[in-house]
Amino acid sequence: MTKHQLETLSFDNSYARLPEALSAKLNPTPFSEPPHLVSFNPAAAELIDLDPEQAKRQEFAAVFGGSMLAPGMEPLAMLYSGHQFGVYVPQLGDGRAILLGEVRNERGEKWDLHLKGAGLTPFSREGDGRAVLRSTIREYLCSEAMFGLGIPTTRGLCIVGSDHQVYREQIETGAMLVRMAPSHVRFGSFEILYYRKQHDQLKVLADYVIAQHYPHLVDASDKYTRFFSEVVERTGRLIAQWQAVGWAHGVMNTDNMSILGITLDYGPFGFIDDYDPGFICNHSDHNGRYAFNQQPYIGLWNLSCLAQALLPLAQKEELKAALDRYTPLCEERYMELMRAKFGLIETKEEDASLIQDLLALMQLHHVDYTNLFRALSLFQTGIESLNESLRDFFSDRDSFDQWARRYKNRLREEGSRDEDRLTRMNHVNPKYVLRNYLAQTAIEKAQKKDFSEIDRLLTLLHNPYSDQPGMEAYAAPPPNWGKHLSVSCSS
Ligand code: AMP
Ligand code: MG
Repeated sequence: MTKHQLETLSFDNSYARLPEALSAKLNPTPFSEPPHLVSFNPAAAELIDLDPEQAKRQEFAAVFGGSMLAPGMEPLAMLYSGHQFGVYVPQLGDGRAILLGEVRNERGEKWDLHLKGAGLTPFSREGDGRAVLRSTIREYLCSEAMFGLGIPTTRGLCIVGSDHQVYREQIETGAMLVRMAPSHVRFGSFEILYYRKQHDQLKVLADYVIAQHYPHLVDASDKYTRFFSEVVERTGRLIAQWQAVGWAHGVMNTDNMSILGITLDYGPFGFIDDYDPGFICNHSDHNGRYAFNQQPYIGLWNLSCLAQALLPLAQKEELKAALDRYTPLCEERYMELMRAKFGLIETKEEDASLIQDLLALMQLHHVDYTNLFRALSLFQTGIESLNESLRDFFSDRDSFDQWARRYKNRLREEGSRDEDRLTRMNHVNPKYVLRNYLAQTAIEKAQKKDFSEIDRLLTLLHNPYSDQPGMEAYAAPPPNWGKHLSVSCSS
């Protein structure tokens, strides 16, 4: 495989060739202080055939810190609007991110290089166009953690920091994150053209997205409905994965919903520690609109906004029929994932209550979601086994015992073998997730210019399903200080 230098990356800026109204062309604004590399992710570099040695060059921090362009880049800020907390906001757009360019790799895949925190754009509204080091670390690590878990997501190529001061609740330092995705088009990219009644542009955008990302639909007579139907499917599957792994996005506004069904725009997200279905990770979400257990429904709500925006291109009844597939699809996928988490192979009607009843017990007894499922793989089906280590998760051991009897019977009915199930379950129940306190530790070190913890977590989270020697402590539930860290949108 060719290993490219910054100067030889192969750009193909298709978004820049779309009608002008869809974006604003402009370059990043450099920091007021010199940029330095905070972290680099060779796994993401590989996706664009970039030689990892390039990260050692000064020019690397210059290019991805917004003070220099690589040949071939055509930077622009993308236009979009969206429903924020249920309310339509007529114009949002990339207020602090700039699409530097699109790289096509040797396999023919296209990757957007999107620089977050790159300074003011025409869409910055009252914002400063910057991102703080804290938020770039969270987005970078979580996107890579999701990738490690097998959940569709944007990727993180690198973080470039600087002593440039940024004002939030307190003074912090700025940083830029290069994130990558085949596309950063959002539901909101369609909504803005619909509400502005720019239906010809809407068609141009839809045709572009279909040609680029759903090419098998290009010649279909009902291509817009089918395109929507595929977005429905991808979104349903994605949200089922979030639910199964116990992750909340925190700001599921329609401008944060990817047209490719990938996890996009990491803000105040959170993995659940002690199981609580009403978990709200966003400190500013006072009504719990984006609480963990609301996510499947919000997915539907957001898809209905997209359906509305596609009305000029497709029949209402057909869009509605596609939308109606969402809930059963999401539920079915969730059940599939949960059965696997429980090590079940056969499908039985009573599975839903078996699963639900354990979750209810976990909620009641404040049991750690990730650790319980990891430990469940050690469940023994032998008649005599009391599964001591598992029952210790529950303060009321009797109620666990009652549940365990049902589970044991269920497993025995399908002839489940302990060793086989253990291996299977360890491939779907992660040992390591990006708990808030782990991210916080990396952030606090980075704020003192020690970036080692970011790299350690990156390596760890790329392999969340393997026991990693010496890393036992990273699977621990949060210490007291890390239990209720406040995370808001101000990033
Ligand atoms: P988010 O909730 O982070 O997805 O952002 C919602 C909108 O606010 C998007 O249009 C962002 O580009 C914009 N935005 C967020 N933070 C800033 C900032 N510091 N400066 C300018 N625009 C911002
Ligand atoms: Mg956003």
